[in-house]
Amino acid sequence: MNTKQLKTKLEKELEDLVGELKTLGHINPENPADWEAGPDNLNVLSADRNETADQIENYESNTSILKQLETQYGDVNNALKKIASGTYGKCEICGEIISEDRLEANPSARTCIAHAS
Ligand SMILES: [Zn+2]
Repeated sequence: MNTKQLKTKLEKELEDLVGELKTLGHINPENPADWEAGPDNLNVLSADRNETADQIENYESNTSILKQLETQYGDVNNALKKIASGTYGKCEICGEIISEDRLEANPSARTCIAHAS
């Protein structure tokens, strides 16, 4: 298995994810591992009510996209850590080797096909 190539892929993916996360939100100042939707100062006290409603609606859809990106980000980060520690490519449930095809298609896969949710 070409771990080096997959690592490059994962690093690129991580970069892209951070870029996307930054366009939708910002890091929670109290928890650097957590991302929050919206600009730093979501102005819910805006004088214009329609604008406020739009902001809140945006905030809600951004939050669900953020959650997905955050999960992906966590998986990619996790895969990179496993490459570093030499445990990459094993199913987190049964410990079997994950097939190369699967890793090629999804380098951040945490499980083998049998345990894919
Ligand atoms: Zn498995």
